[in-house]
Amino acid sequence: MLEGKVALVTGSTSGIGLGIARSLAGAGASIMMNGFGDADDIERLRSQLAEENGVSVAFDGADLSRPDEVNRLVEKTIDVLGGVDVLVNNAGIQFVAPIEEFPDDRWESIIALNLSAAFYSMKAAIPAMKAKGWGRIINVASAHGLVASSNKVAYVAAKHGLVGATKVAALELANHGVTVNAICPGWVLTPLVERQLRDRVEQTGTEIAVEMEQLLAEKQPMLKFTTPVSIGAMAVFLCSDEAETITGATLSIDGGWTAQ
Ligand code: NAD
Repeated sequence: MLEGKVALVTGSTSGIGLGIARSLAGAGASIMMNGFGDADDIERLRSQLAEENGVSVAFDGADLSRPDEVNRLVEKTIDVLGGVDVLVNNAGIQFVAPIEEFPDDRWESIIALNLSAAFYSMKAAIPAMKAKGWGRIINVASAHGLVASSNKVAYVAAKHGLVGATKVAALELANHGVTVNAICPGWVLTPLVERQLRDRVEQTGTEIAVEMEQLLAEKQPMLKFTTPVSIGAMAVFLCSDEAETITGATLSIDGGWTAQ
């Protein structure tokens, strides 16, 4: 379905981004991977993705909290893979503390990566999409783009901002063949959530399994994690012709979290 298309997936060395990259490659897209991690592990993932799906896969470790690096990554995707038809803004970080104790540098870095990077990447990629008259922008927001939780001020502010930016881009691109949507997952068991679980164990002295149950019970009526595979499938659907009029939408995949 996506043969001949190029997808840039930010933060695709791990978790949800890797799941989305796998699904898009499975649908035939060439992939620009991005993110941090061990160089050998990343090279293994890159070559596996390419071999298993018979597509071109490149990698660039741009630090997307820096606008110049975001621009360079979009340019490199176009240079190396021949375009940027699908842009998935997925890279994100988290930090948990009450506002009065929230470190300034954590606020700045979360806003820079979880929100501003998506602005800069859309700004850089939109001209190429408009020129082709086809494009798909998928912003990985969160249930926290729709509702709040305490102790996550920067993350919740960034994700709400990302949902707003998604809607503006959708309006501006409505008649250019480009759709722009936000996927809003609830809990997904990735390194980002595993870190939160470990912090909770440190505070409570319980065990990971207990904190896992607690974490789900606090927010999600459906007491199970969403998988990166399911989110990847949603991303592939958003890239399909059948999804051509879905734009400016927030698509929850959250076990009922935001139905409450
Ligand atoms: P993760 O920690 O597994 O992956 C994050 C990815 O971002 C990694 O590839 C990492 O290397 C990359 N990254 C981190 N800093 C970067 C930087 N400065 N520049 C470039 N890449 C950088 O986390 P995840 O859970 O897969 O999260 C992916 C996205 O999904 C995030 O935007 C997150 O907010 C969102 N999300 C996650 C959950 C969840 O429960 N895990 C729920 C809702 C939304």
